[in-house]
Amino acid sequence: MHTKRVLVAGAGGFIGGHLVQRLKSEGFWVRGADIKEHEFAESAADEFLLGDLTDVNNTRAALAGIDEVYQLAADMGGAGYIFTGEHDAAVMHDSAMINLHMLEEGRKAGVKKFFYSSSACIYPEYNQMDPDNPKCSEESAYPAAPDSEYGWEKLFSERLYFAYHRNFGVQVRVARFHNIFGPQGTWCGGREKSPAALCRKIAETPDGGEIELWGDGLQTRSFLFMEECVEGIRRFMESDFSGPVNIGSEEMVTINQLAEIIMGIAGKRVRIKHVPGPLGVRGRNSDNHLIREKLGWEPKQPLRDGLSTTYAWIAQQITQSMATSSTRA
Ligand code: NAD
Repeated sequence: MHTKRVLVAGAGGFIGGHLVQRLKSEGFWVRGADIKEHEFAESAADEFLLGDLTDVNNTRAALAGIDEVYQLAADMGGAGYIFTGEHDAAVMHDSAMINLHMLEEGRKAGVKKFFYSSSACIYPEYNQMDPDNPKCSEESAYPAAPDSEYGWEKLFSERLYFAYHRNFGVQVRVARFHNIFGPQGTWCGGREKSPAALCRKIAETPDGGEIELWGDGLQTRSFLFMEECVEGIRRFMESDFSGPVNIGSEEMVTINQLAEIIMGIAGKRVRIKHVPGPLGVRGRNSDNHLIREKLGWEPKQPLRDGLSTTYAWIAQQITQSMATSSTRA
Protein backbone atom coordinates (compact mmCIF):
# COMPACT_ATOMS: atom_id res chain seq x y z
CA MET A 1 0.00 0.00 0.00
CA HIS A 2 1.28 3.44 -1.00
CA THR A 3 1.28 6.21 1.52
CA LYS A 4 0.72 8.67 -1.34
CA ARG A 5 -2.69 10.28 -1.66
CA VAL A 6 -3.55 11.27 -5.22
CA LEU A 7 -6.36 13.25 -6.81
CA VAL A 8 -7.70 12.34 -10.25
CA ALA A 9 -9.65 15.34 -11.56
CA GLY A 10 -11.95 14.17 -14.36
CA ALA A 11 -12.35 10.74 -12.71
CA GLY A 12 -15.91 10.50 -14.02
CA GLY A 13 -14.57 10.59 -17.57
CA PHE A 14 -13.09 8.07 -19.96
CA ILE A 15 -9.33 8.24 -19.33
CA GLY A 16 -9.76 9.41 -15.72
CA GLY A 17 -11.90 6.35 -14.95
CA HIS A 18 -9.26 3.97 -16.30
CA LEU A 19 -6.49 5.88 -14.54
CA VAL A 20 -8.26 5.56 -11.17
CA GLN A 21 -8.41 1.79 -11.66
CA ARG A 22 -4.73 1.64 -12.53
CA LEU A 23 -3.70 3.78 -9.54
CA LYS A 24 -5.82 1.65 -7.21
CA SER A 25 -4.22 -1.52 -8.59
CA GLU A 26 -0.83 0.02 -7.76
CA GLY A 27 -1.96 0.65 -4.17
CA PHE A 28 -2.42 4.44 -4.15
CA TRP A 29 -5.09 6.10 -2.04
CA VAL A 30 -7.22 7.83 -4.69
CA ARG A 31 -9.75 10.64 -4.57
CA GLY A 32 -11.71 11.16 -7.76
CA ALA A 33 -13.41 14.45 -8.60
CA ASP A 34 -15.78 15.26 -11.42
CA ILE A 35 -18.93 17.22 -12.19
CA LYS A 36 -20.59 13.90 -13.04
CA GLU A 37 -20.36 10.32 -11.97
CA HIS A 38 -18.77 7.79 -14.30
CA GLU A 39 -21.31 6.81 -16.93
CA PHE A 40 -20.29 3.19 -17.45
CA ALA A 41 -18.78 1.88 -14.21
CA GLU A 42 -18.73 2.46 -10.50
CA SER A 43 -15.60 4.45 -9.61
CA ALA A 44 -12.78 2.46 -8.04
CA ALA A 45 -11.69 5.59 -6.10
CA ASP A 46 -11.51 5.58 -2.29
CA GLU A 47 -13.45 8.84 -2.31
CA PHE A 48 -15.38 10.56 -5.09
CA LEU A 49 -16.14 14.24 -4.91
CA LEU A 50 -19.04 15.21 -7.12
CA GLY A 51 -18.71 18.91 -7.93
CA ASP A 52 -17.94 21.59 -10.48
CA LEU A 53 -14.20 22.27 -10.43
CA THR A 54 -14.65 25.76 -11.88
CA ASP A 55 -15.90 26.56 -8.38
CA VAL A 56 -12.84 27.17 -6.22
CA ASN A 57 -14.54 25.78 -3.10
CA ASN A 58 -14.86 22.40 -4.80
CA THR A 59 -11.24 22.55 -5.95
CA ARG A 60 -10.11 23.23 -2.37
CA ALA A 61 -12.16 20.32 -1.06
CA ALA A 62 -10.78 18.02 -3.76
CA LEU A 63 -7.19 18.99 -2.90
CA ALA A 64 -7.32 18.58 0.89
CA GLY A 65 -4.55 16.23 2.04
CA ILE A 66 -3.42 15.39 -1.52
CA ASP A 67 0.25 14.76 -2.50
CA GLU A 68 -0.08 14.44 -6.28
CA VAL A 69 -2.66 15.53 -8.83
CA TYR A 70 -3.64 14.08 -12.20
CA GLN A 71 -5.59 16.89 -13.88
CA LEU A 72 -7.74 15.47 -16.67
CA ALA A 73 -10.95 17.44 -16.18
CA ALA A 74 -11.85 19.46 -19.28
CA ASP A 75 -14.86 20.48 -21.29
CA MET A 76 -14.19 18.30 -24.29
CA GLY A 77 -15.48 16.11 -27.11
CA GLY A 78 -14.71 14.97 -30.65
CA ALA A 79 -14.83 17.05 -33.85
CA GLY A 80 -18.63 17.33 -33.58
CA TYR A 81 -18.18 19.18 -30.29
CA ILE A 82 -14.93 21.11 -30.69
CA PHE A 83 -14.96 22.28 -34.30
CA THR A 84 -18.50 23.61 -34.62
CA GLY A 85 -17.65 26.79 -32.67
CA GLU A 86 -20.83 26.57 -30.60
CA HIS A 87 -19.04 25.56 -27.41
CA ASP A 88 -15.93 27.76 -27.71
CA ALA A 89 -16.59 30.08 -24.78
CA ALA A 90 -17.48 27.26 -22.39
CA VAL A 91 -14.51 25.15 -23.51
CA MET A 92 -12.06 28.01 -22.93
CA HIS A 93 -13.62 29.40 -19.76
CA ASP A 94 -14.31 26.16 -17.92
CA SER A 95 -11.09 24.35 -18.73
CA ALA A 96 -8.86 27.37 -18.06
CA MET A 97 -10.69 28.04 -14.78
CA ILE A 98 -10.21 24.44 -13.64
CA ASN A 99 -6.46 24.66 -14.34
CA LEU A 100 -6.07 28.09 -12.74
CA HIS A 101 -7.76 26.91 -9.53
CA MET A 102 -5.99 23.56 -9.51
CA LEU A 103 -2.52 25.10 -9.61
CA GLU A 104 -3.12 28.00 -7.25
CA GLU A 105 -5.06 26.05 -4.64
CA GLY A 106 -2.83 23.01 -5.14
CA ARG A 107 0.42 24.82 -4.45
CA LYS A 108 -1.14 26.49 -1.38
CA ALA A 109 -2.28 23.06 -0.16
CA GLY A 110 1.26 21.66 -0.58
CA VAL A 111 0.71 19.44 -3.64
CA LYS A 112 4.12 18.28 -4.85
CA LYS A 113 3.46 17.10 -8.39
CA PHE A 114 0.88 17.77 -11.11
CA PHE A 115 0.20 15.71 -14.22
CA TYR A 116 -1.59 17.69 -16.92
CA SER A 117 -3.26 16.21 -20.00
CA SER A 118 -2.71 18.52 -22.93
CA SER A 119 -3.56 17.52 -26.48
CA ALA A 120 -2.27 17.06 -30.02
CA CYS A 121 -4.79 19.83 -30.81
CA ILE A 122 -2.16 22.38 -29.75
CA TYR A 123 -0.06 21.69 -32.86
CA PRO A 124 -0.16 24.34 -35.59
CA GLU A 125 -2.55 23.83 -38.44
CA TYR A 126 0.14 24.89 -40.98
CA ASN A 127 2.16 21.72 -40.21
CA GLN A 128 -0.84 19.44 -40.67
CA MET A 129 -2.04 20.25 -44.20
CA ASP A 130 -0.39 17.25 -45.87
CA PRO A 131 -2.22 14.06 -44.85
CA ASP A 132 0.84 11.92 -45.66
CA ASN A 133 3.36 13.98 -43.78
CA PRO A 134 1.99 15.85 -40.76
CA LYS A 135 4.51 17.28 -38.31
CA CYS A 136 3.78 16.89 -34.59
CA SER A 137 7.18 16.84 -32.92
CA GLU A 138 7.02 18.56 -29.55
CA GLU A 139 9.14 21.61 -30.49
CA SER A 140 6.96 22.28 -33.56
CA ALA A 141 4.21 23.74 -31.33
CA TYR A 142 5.59 27.27 -31.96
CA PRO A 143 4.90 29.66 -33.63
CA ALA A 144 1.52 28.64 -32.27
CA ALA A 145 -1.50 28.24 -34.56
CA PRO A 146 -3.90 25.60 -33.17
CA ASP A 147 -7.04 25.15 -35.28
CA SER A 148 -9.49 25.24 -32.35
CA GLU A 149 -10.11 27.25 -29.18
CA TYR A 150 -9.82 23.91 -27.36
CA GLY A 151 -6.21 23.76 -28.59
CA TRP A 152 -5.50 27.35 -27.56
CA GLU A 153 -6.77 26.70 -24.03
CA LYS A 154 -4.58 23.59 -23.78
CA LEU A 155 -1.55 25.58 -24.91
CA PHE A 156 -2.25 28.34 -22.39
CA SER A 157 -2.65 25.77 -19.61
CA GLU A 158 0.55 23.93 -20.56
CA ARG A 159 2.35 27.24 -20.11
CA LEU A 160 0.56 27.84 -16.82
CA TYR A 161 1.84 24.52 -15.42
CA PHE A 162 5.41 25.34 -16.45
CA ALA A 163 5.07 28.86 -15.00
CA TYR A 164 4.02 27.42 -11.63
CA HIS A 165 7.00 25.08 -11.82
CA ARG A 166 9.40 27.99 -12.42
CA ASN A 167 7.90 30.37 -9.88
CA PHE A 168 6.77 28.03 -7.09
CA GLY A 169 8.95 24.94 -7.57
CA VAL A 170 6.07 22.45 -7.93
CA GLN A 171 6.87 19.50 -10.18
CA VAL A 172 4.85 19.19 -13.37
CA ARG A 173 4.40 16.55 -16.05
CA VAL A 174 2.73 17.80 -19.23
CA ALA A 175 1.61 15.20 -21.80
CA ARG A 176 0.00 15.75 -25.20
CA PHE A 177 -2.48 12.94 -25.87
CA HIS A 178 -3.24 11.92 -29.45
CA ASN A 179 -6.78 10.48 -29.96
CA ILE A 180 -7.25 8.02 -27.13
CA PHE A 181 -9.95 5.38 -27.56
CA GLY A 182 -11.26 2.26 -25.85
CA PRO A 183 -14.11 0.76 -23.82
CA GLN A 184 -15.98 3.05 -21.43
CA GLY A 185 -15.48 6.06 -23.69
CA THR A 186 -18.31 8.23 -25.03
CA TRP A 187 -19.85 6.39 -27.99
CA CYS A 188 -22.99 8.41 -28.74
CA GLY A 189 -24.61 11.76 -27.99
CA GLY A 190 -22.39 14.19 -29.95
CA ARG A 191 -19.12 14.21 -27.99
CA GLU A 192 -17.85 10.86 -29.32
CA LYS A 193 -14.74 10.68 -31.51
CA SER A 194 -14.25 8.91 -34.83
CA PRO A 195 -13.26 5.38 -33.61
CA ALA A 196 -16.29 5.16 -31.31
CA ALA A 197 -18.62 6.84 -33.82
CA LEU A 198 -17.57 4.44 -36.60
CA CYS A 199 -17.83 1.39 -34.33
CA ARG A 200 -21.37 2.49 -33.42
CA LYS A 201 -22.43 3.20 -37.00
CA ILE A 202 -21.05 -0.09 -38.31
CA ALA A 203 -22.53 -2.09 -35.41
CA GLU A 204 -25.95 -0.52 -36.01
CA THR A 205 -25.93 -1.06 -39.79
CA PRO A 206 -26.80 -4.38 -41.43
CA ASP A 207 -24.34 -6.06 -43.79
CA GLY A 208 -24.55 -4.30 -47.18
CA GLY A 209 -26.06 -1.13 -45.68
CA GLU A 210 -24.66 2.39 -45.70
CA ILE A 211 -23.02 4.68 -43.15
CA GLU A 212 -22.21 8.39 -43.29
CA LEU A 213 -18.67 9.59 -42.81
CA TRP A 214 -17.63 13.24 -42.45
CA GLY A 215 -15.41 14.55 -45.25
CA ASP A 216 -13.72 12.50 -47.98
CA GLY A 217 -12.23 10.10 -45.42
CA LEU A 218 -8.71 10.79 -46.70
CA GLN A 219 -7.80 12.83 -43.62
CA THR A 220 -5.23 10.93 -41.52
CA ARG A 221 -4.96 10.32 -37.76
CA SER A 222 -3.42 7.91 -35.29
CA PHE A 223 -5.31 6.36 -32.40
CA LEU A 224 -4.00 5.10 -29.08
CA PHE A 225 -5.69 2.44 -27.00
CA MET A 226 -6.46 3.65 -23.46
CA GLU A 227 -4.41 0.92 -21.74
CA GLU A 228 -1.23 2.20 -23.34
CA CYS A 229 -2.22 5.78 -22.59
CA VAL A 230 -2.53 4.94 -18.89
CA GLU A 231 0.79 3.07 -19.01
CA GLY A 232 2.38 6.15 -20.57
CA ILE A 233 0.89 8.47 -17.94
CA ARG A 234 2.28 6.37 -15.09
CA ARG A 235 5.74 5.95 -16.63
CA PHE A 236 5.93 9.68 -17.37
CA MET A 237 4.73 10.64 -13.87
CA GLU A 238 7.50 8.55 -12.27
CA SER A 239 10.20 9.81 -14.68
CA ASP A 240 12.49 12.83 -14.25
CA PHE A 241 11.18 14.49 -17.40
CA SER A 242 8.65 17.34 -17.25
CA GLY A 243 7.63 17.37 -20.91
CA PRO A 244 5.76 18.41 -22.88
CA VAL A 245 5.73 14.97 -24.49
CA ASN A 246 3.45 13.23 -26.97
CA ILE A 247 1.55 10.18 -25.73
CA GLY A 248 0.17 8.69 -28.91
CA SER A 249 0.46 6.03 -31.56
CA GLU A 250 2.60 6.37 -34.70
CA GLU A 251 0.33 4.00 -36.69
CA MET A 252 -1.27 6.58 -38.98
CA VAL A 253 -4.39 5.65 -40.99
CA THR A 254 -6.94 7.50 -43.10
CA ILE A 255 -10.45 7.63 -41.69
CA ASN A 256 -11.54 5.43 -44.62
CA GLN A 257 -8.94 2.85 -43.54
CA LEU A 258 -10.18 3.11 -39.95
CA ALA A 259 -13.68 2.27 -41.20
CA GLU A 260 -12.30 -0.67 -43.25
CA ILE A 261 -10.52 -2.12 -40.20
CA ILE A 262 -13.72 -1.88 -38.14
CA MET A 263 -15.74 -3.54 -40.93
CA GLY A 264 -13.20 -6.39 -40.87
CA ILE A 265 -13.64 -6.77 -37.12
CA ALA A 266 -17.44 -6.64 -37.43
CA GLY A 267 -17.36 -9.17 -40.27
CA LYS A 268 -19.55 -7.03 -42.54
CA ARG A 269 -19.28 -4.70 -45.54
CA VAL A 270 -21.08 -1.37 -45.51
CA ARG A 271 -20.98 1.40 -48.12
CA ILE A 272 -19.51 4.74 -47.07
CA LYS A 273 -21.39 7.90 -47.95
CA HIS A 274 -19.15 10.94 -47.61
CA VAL A 275 -21.03 13.92 -46.21
CA PRO A 276 -19.97 17.42 -45.12
CA GLY A 277 -19.11 17.71 -41.44
CA PRO A 278 -16.65 19.22 -38.94
CA LEU A 279 -13.20 17.84 -39.69
CA GLY A 280 -10.17 19.42 -38.03
CA VAL A 281 -6.71 19.24 -39.57
CA ARG A 282 -6.00 17.26 -42.76
CA GLY A 283 -3.34 15.02 -41.25
CA ARG A 284 -2.06 14.19 -37.77
CA ASN A 285 0.23 11.57 -36.32
CA SER A 286 2.12 11.20 -33.08
CA ASP A 287 5.89 11.70 -33.21
CA ASN A 288 7.42 9.42 -30.59
CA HIS A 289 11.11 10.35 -30.83
CA LEU A 290 11.06 12.25 -27.56
CA ILE A 291 9.11 9.71 -25.49
CA ARG A 292 11.46 6.96 -26.75
CA GLU A 293 14.47 9.05 -25.79
CA LYS A 294 13.22 10.23 -22.38
CA LEU A 295 11.24 7.23 -21.12
CA GLY A 296 12.83 4.41 -23.14
CA TRP A 297 9.27 3.35 -23.90
CA GLU A 298 6.57 3.97 -26.48
CA PRO A 299 3.15 2.51 -27.30
CA LYS A 300 3.42 -0.54 -29.54
CA GLN A 301 0.01 -2.21 -29.70
CA PRO A 302 -1.45 -2.57 -33.23
CA LEU A 303 -4.52 -0.38 -33.81
CA ARG A 304 -6.61 -3.39 -34.81
CA ASP A 305 -6.22 -5.03 -31.37
CA GLY A 306 -7.59 -2.06 -29.45
CA LEU A 307 -10.36 -1.60 -32.00
CA SER A 308 -11.49 -5.24 -31.58
CA THR A 309 -11.94 -4.73 -27.84
CA THR A 310 -13.66 -1.38 -28.36
CA TYR A 311 -16.00 -2.66 -31.07
CA ALA A 312 -17.11 -5.56 -28.85
CA TRP A 313 -17.81 -3.15 -25.99
CA ILE A 314 -19.80 -0.70 -28.15
CA ALA A 315 -21.81 -3.51 -29.76
CA GLN A 316 -22.69 -4.68 -26.25
CA GLN A 317 -23.71 -1.13 -25.21
CA ILE A 318 -26.04 -0.93 -28.22
CA THR A 319 -27.65 -4.27 -27.36
CA GLN A 320 -28.10 -3.18 -23.74
CA SER A 321 -29.61 0.19 -24.65
CA MET A 322 -32.02 -1.48 -27.10
CA ALA A 323 -33.05 -3.96 -24.40
CA THR A 324 -33.63 -1.11 -21.92
CA SER A 325 -35.73 0.91 -24.38
CA SER A 326 -37.85 -2.12 -25.34
CA THR A 327 -38.46 -2.83 -21.62
CA ARG A 328 -39.60 0.78 -21.20
CA ALA A 329 -41.88 0.65 -24.26
P1 NAD B 1 -13.87 12.97 -20.83
O1 NAD B 1 -14.76 14.05 -21.35
O2 NAD B 1 -14.38 11.59 -20.78
O3 NAD B 1 -13.32 13.36 -19.39
C1 NAD B 1 -13.22 14.68 -18.93
C2 NAD B 1 -13.98 14.77 -17.63
O4 NAD B 1 -13.87 16.12 -17.14
C3 NAD B 1 -15.47 14.47 -17.80
O5 NAD B 1 -15.85 13.39 -16.98
C4 NAD B 1 -16.14 15.74 -17.38
O6 NAD B 1 -17.37 15.58 -16.68
C5 NAD B 1 -15.09 16.39 -16.49
N1 NAD B 1 -15.35 17.82 -16.35
C6 NAD B 1 -15.64 18.70 -17.34
N2 NAD B 1 -15.92 19.89 -16.82
C7 NAD B 1 -15.79 19.76 -15.47
C8 NAD B 1 -15.98 20.66 -14.38
N3 NAD B 1 -16.32 21.94 -14.58
N4 NAD B 1 -15.79 20.20 -13.13
C9 NAD B 1 -15.45 18.88 -12.91
N5 NAD B 1 -15.27 18.01 -13.90
C10 NAD B 1 -15.44 18.44 -15.17
O7 NAD B 1 -12.54 13.04 -21.72
P2 NAD B 1 -11.27 12.08 -21.76
O8 NAD B 1 -11.21 11.54 -23.13
O9 NAD B 1 -11.24 11.16 -20.60
O10 NAD B 1 -10.11 13.16 -21.62
C11 NAD B 1 -9.40 13.39 -20.42
C12 NAD B 1 -8.39 14.52 -20.64
O11 NAD B 1 -7.50 14.18 -21.70
C13 NAD B 1 -9.04 15.85 -21.04
O12 NAD B 1 -8.33 16.89 -20.42
C14 NAD B 1 -8.84 15.90 -22.53
O13 NAD B 1 -8.81 17.23 -22.99
C15 NAD B 1 -7.49 15.22 -22.67
N6 NAD B 1 -7.31 14.64 -24.02
C16 NAD B 1 -8.07 13.56 -24.40
C17 NAD B 1 -7.89 13.03 -25.67
C18 NAD B 1 -8.70 11.85 -26.14
O14 NAD B 1 -8.53 11.44 -27.29
N7 NAD B 1 -9.57 11.25 -25.33
C19 NAD B 1 -6.96 13.59 -26.55
C20 NAD B 1 -6.22 14.69 -26.13
C21 NAD B 1 -6.39 15.20 -24.86
